[in-house]
Amino acid sequence: APADADAVLEGLDPEQREVATALHGPVCVLAGAGTGKTRAITHRIAYGVRAGILQPNTVLAVTFTNRAAGEMRGRLRQLGAAGVQARTFHSAALRQLQYFWPKAVGGEVPRLLERKVQLVAEAGARSGIRLDRTELRDVTGEIEWSKVTQTVPADYPAAVVKATREAPRDPAEIAQIYRTYEDLKRDRGVIDFEDVLLLTVGVLQERPDIAEQVRAQYQHFVVDEYQDVSPLQQRLLDLWLGDRDSLCVVGDASQTIYSFTGATPDHLLNFRTRHPGATVVKLVRDYRSSPQIVHLANGLLAQARGRAAEHRLELISQRDAGPDPVHVEYGDEPAEAEGTARRIRDLIAAGVPAGEIAVLFRINAQSEVYEQALADAGVPYQLRGAERFFERPEVREAGHKLRAAARFGGNDALLDDAQDLPSEVRAVLSEMGWGDLPPAGSGAVRDRWESLAALVRLAEDFAKARPEATLADLVTELDERAGAQHAPTVDGVTLASLHAAKGLEWDAVFLVGLTDGMLPITYAKTDEQLEEERRLLYVGITRARRHLSLSWALSRSPGGRAHRSPSRFLKGLRPGSGAAGHRSPGGGGGIERGIGGTAAARGEERESVRRKRRGPIRCRVCGRVLSDGGEIKLMRCEDCPSELDEGLYERLRDWR
Ligand code: ATP
Ligand code: MG
Repeated sequence: APADADAVLEGLDPEQREVATALHGPVCVLAGAGTGKTRAITHRIAYGVRAGILQPNTVLAVTFTNRAAGEMRGRLRQLGAAGVQARTFHSAALRQLQYFWPKAVGGEVPRLLERKVQLVAEAGARSGIRLDRTELRDVTGEIEWSKVTQTVPADYPAAVVKATREAPRDPAEIAQIYRTYEDLKRDRGVIDFEDVLLLTVGVLQERPDIAEQVRAQYQHFVVDEYQDVSPLQQRLLDLWLGDRDSLCVVGDASQTIYSFTGATPDHLLNFRTRHPGATVVKLVRDYRSSPQIVHLANGLLAQARGRAAEHRLELISQRDAGPDPVHVEYGDEPAEAEGTARRIRDLIAAGVPAGEIAVLFRINAQSEVYEQALADAGVPYQLRGAERFFERPEVREAGHKLRAAARFGGNDALLDDAQDLPSEVRAVLSEMGWGDLPPAGSGAVRDRWESLAALVRLAEDFAKARPEATLADLVTELDERAGAQHAPTVDGVTLASLHAAKGLEWDAVFLVGLTDGMLPITYAKTDEQLEEERRLLYVGITRARRHLSLSWALSRSPGGRAHRSPSRFLKGLRPGSGAAGHRSPGGGGGIERGIGGTAAARGEERESVRRKRRGPIRCRVCGRVLSDGGEIKLMRCEDCPSELDEGLYERLRDWR
C-alpha cells in the first residue's frame, strides 16, 4: 500500500490495524464499549480507499442512527475518503426503494404512516377489541416484532409459541388486529417503518434484475452496532451481498438494547459459524473512559446473565485516572433536577464545555424537569433529535438565502467585507436579524437565534475541515444533511434517552432517575427484559470519558412519600460498598446526599413557568408541534404514551 494510505493506520493499535487492513473476505470485530470499533471501521474504509483497493462509491457503511452516519461521513472526508455512502438500514433501503419503485411497481413510494399507535387502536376497534393504553403499546410492539421477524398475521399465534414470547393478549386477537392494521394501511396508501425494509427485501427477492443492479453498485459492506441487527435487516444485508463475502461487522453483545424490537446479538455471536473463513478480532483496550468508570462498567457486567453476558470482555482503560464516579441520592425529583443543573453549572465554570456534558434518562418524559432546571440555571441545552432541525422555518429560510447568495452573490455590499466562508454565512444570516449575541430570555426569538447559530457553527466546522470550500459547497452539504436529517450539533448540554446515546461519548455524563421502576422500567418483567435494562445502564455508564454521576430521587414530588429505591443494578457498585473485587481504584466515597432546597411552592412556580413558555410546544416523544404557544395540558401527543419502549420512538424519530 502507498505511504499515503499507511498514514491512515497511525493512531490505531495493532488489533485495530488488523481490522483496518483486512480488506478481503468477512471480518468480525467483537469488542466492548469505547474500544475503538467505530474508529477501526472508519479507518478501514479510508485505508482501503486510499490504497486503491476500495472504490469509494461501491462501499456502503451501515450505522444505527442518521447522526452516526453523518459523523462517519465527516470523518471519512477528513481521512481523504469522501464519497462513501454511510447510512442507516432504513435510509439506504428507502433510497433504493425510491430509485427502483417506478420500475418495479409504478408510481411513487407511498407516504410514511405518521400515527402508528392510533392506527393500531383503530384496527383494534374495527376488530371489536378494546385496548387500554398499556395493551396498545404492547400490541403495537407485537406487530413490529412480527414484521421484523417476517411473520405474517396468520402465523403469529404459532410464532409466539415458538419464540416463547409472552403475548400481551390472546394471540388470535393480536393476529386479527395485525391483519386489520395492514388492511387499513393498504386502504390509505401508507406504509410504516418496517414496510420500508420489507418492501425493499421484497423487490430484491422478486426482481433479480433489480437485485443485480444494486449488487453492481455496492460491493463492500460495513455494519456498525451489529449486535442490534434485526432478522429483517439481516435479510436485507444478505440480499445486498448475494454470494459475495466482502462484509465487515462490529458489535458488542453487552450493548444489545433493541432486542425488544426483534433485534438479536445472535447474528454477531454466530458470525464465525456462518462465515467459517472470517477474520475475528477482539479489542479490549478502552480508549474512552477513565479507569474508575471502566471499573464500574466491568463491575456491572460481572453481574449480567444470559447469552450476551457469556461473551463479555473485561475492558482495560488506557486513560489517566479521573475523579471517582459519584452516587447521589435526592429527596425528590425536582431536587434531583436542580442538583444536577447546579453540578453542571459548576463543571462548566471549571472549564468543561457545555457540549461535552450529557444528561441521560430512561424515558423521554423524564427530560422535561431537567430542561426547566437547566433553563433556570442559565445553562444552554439541546434535546437530541426532538425537533426536526431542517424543517424549522428559519432554517428553511436561511437555506433559501444561502442558496441565492451562492448563485448570485447575494447582497454584494455585505459579502464584499466577508473574508471567509463563515463570515459570508454570517453576512447572509444577518439579513435575517442574526447577531453575534443571543437575544435575552427564552422563547421563539431565542429558538430562532439558536437555529441560526447552529448554522454558523456548522459553516465554521465545515470550513475548518475543508479550507477551500465555497458557499456553494456548503449549500450542497446542507442539502445532504437535510436529506439524511443530520442536524448540526448545538453547543449545549445534551439531554437524551439512553437508547439515543448509543455510540456517542461526552466528558461528563449524568445518569439520572436511576430508581427501581425507571431502570429497570416497571414493565420489564422477564429475565431477558431485565438483562436488557441492565445493558442500558452499561451503555449509559460507558458514554462518559471522565466525569460520571449516578443519581436517583426517593419521591416524585416535593413533600411526597419516599417510596422509591435506588436501582437494583447499583447494588455492590458503589465505591466503598465493600463488594468483593469491586472496590473503586480511587477508594473512599459512598452515597452523597443531594441538597434539596426545593419547597413545594418552588415546584408550583416551575409548573407555571412551563405552561407560559412561548413559542411552539412540541411533543416530548415524537417532536410534532402540539401548540404554537400558550398553555397546554400534556407535553406529548395523546397517542405517544409516556410509558413506552424508548428505543422504538428513537428510531421513529430518527426516521422522520
Ligand atoms: P461504542 O461501543 O460505544 O460504540 P467504540 O468501540 O465504537 O465504542 P469509538 O467510538 O470508536 O469506540 O472510540 C472510543 C473513543 O476512543 C473515541 O474517542 C476514539 O477516538 C478513541 N480511540 C479509539 N481508538 C483509539 C486509539 N487507538 N488511540 C487513541 N484513541 C482512540
Ligand atoms: Mg461505536
